[in-house]
Amino acid sequence: MRLLFRKKTAQGGHAVRHSPQRVSGCKCRLGVRILAVFALAVLTLSLVPLTAAAANKPLEIYFVDVEGGQSTLFVTPAGQSLLIDTGWNYNAYRDAIRITKAAKLAGIKKIDYVLITHYHQDHVGGVPQLIAKFPVGTFIDHGPNREETAAMNHQYEEYQKAIAGKNHIVVKPGDQLPIKGMDAVVVSADGNIIEQPLPGAGQQNANCEGVTEKASDASENARSVGTVITFGNLRIVDLGDLTWNKELQLMCPVNKVGHADLLVVSHHGLDQSNSPALVHALQPRVAIFDNGAKKGASPSAWDIVKSSPGLQDIWQLHFADAGGSEHNAQDPFIANINEADTGYYLKVTAREDGSFDVFNPRNKFSKEYPAK
Ligand SMILES: [Zn+2]
Ligand SMILES: [Zn+2]
Repeated sequence: MRLLFRKKTAQGGHAVRHSPQRVSGCKCRLGVRILAVFALAVLTLSLVPLTAAAANKPLEIYFVDVEGGQSTLFVTPAGQSLLIDTGWNYNAYRDAIRITKAAKLAGIKKIDYVLITHYHQDHVGGVPQLIAKFPVGTFIDHGPNREETAAMNHQYEEYQKAIAGKNHIVVKPGDQLPIKGMDAVVVSADGNIIEQPLPGAGQQNANCEGVTEKASDASENARSVGTVITFGNLRIVDLGDLTWNKELQLMCPVNKVGHADLLVVSHHGLDQSNSPALVHALQPRVAIFDNGAKKGASPSAWDIVKSSPGLQDIWQLHFADAGGSEHNAQDPFIANINEADTGYYLKVTAREDGSFDVFNPRNKFSKEYPAK
């Protein structure tokens, strides 16, 4: 796009600069003027479609398969990128390689922001290997680790070591992420929830009725950084591994989030998360599970998502072994159907009018979801 623009500008400039040498007298000035007007017209005509094309560029989202962890790459029309979580810390760079592959498909040379939802191994573990494989800008997280076990403290230390000297932002509910080209607001972090509803939200939530709290969760899951992304008319909700009771704080008695077109199903679709008070009130049109073959997409949570009002489709990174045919999406909507896979991703291409499509590279199946 930029190359094309430069080329056309240069051609326009060329015509104006050299025309006086070929003509003389008063006709010369007229000739120059005609050529100048012509050049301006060419320049203007070349700029109009380019500007329109830039404004219509989509938001691309890659759901990287990290086998039951999370790693979701957003690339905005402004060319900036946000990676939510980095997958695991073993398997010889497996997850870093898969993230790098997605980044290259998206045409970026650097990941501008890496948001770590919380410090479990399947989210933060991949940071050192990712840094070794691909340029990364600023890290975003909720502050210190709150799950004081030896394993978790070690995990957090490894992360701290890896990001030493790099840009680092600690976020709290209500903060806007600094990324250009989409609006991303934090709704949960470090166990805290936004105090006021997001603009347009705040309605009484009838889906809270009959939903009771579960045993309290002292783990890092409840500390997850949750983000609501708005891109034109499209809304995307990603709450990391936020668990049930925090969902109720966010959604009951009033829904502080509003609706979602696309839901990144919380906690890989485990039943410690995904209360009907959350899922049914968000009314997602499409839900994507970042599950593994043997992790996530619990049948009861899958049923809650499936029965959500207005839901059109569930997409999954893996066929969930525990679910059988009753609790899995149809084959075309699943990126990886057995463990011999090579880590197929799912890609969402979203437009500002609220339309989007989801693409499965395993079978080249894609489906368009029109603007509402
Ligand atoms: Zn997780
Ligand atoms: Zn977790």
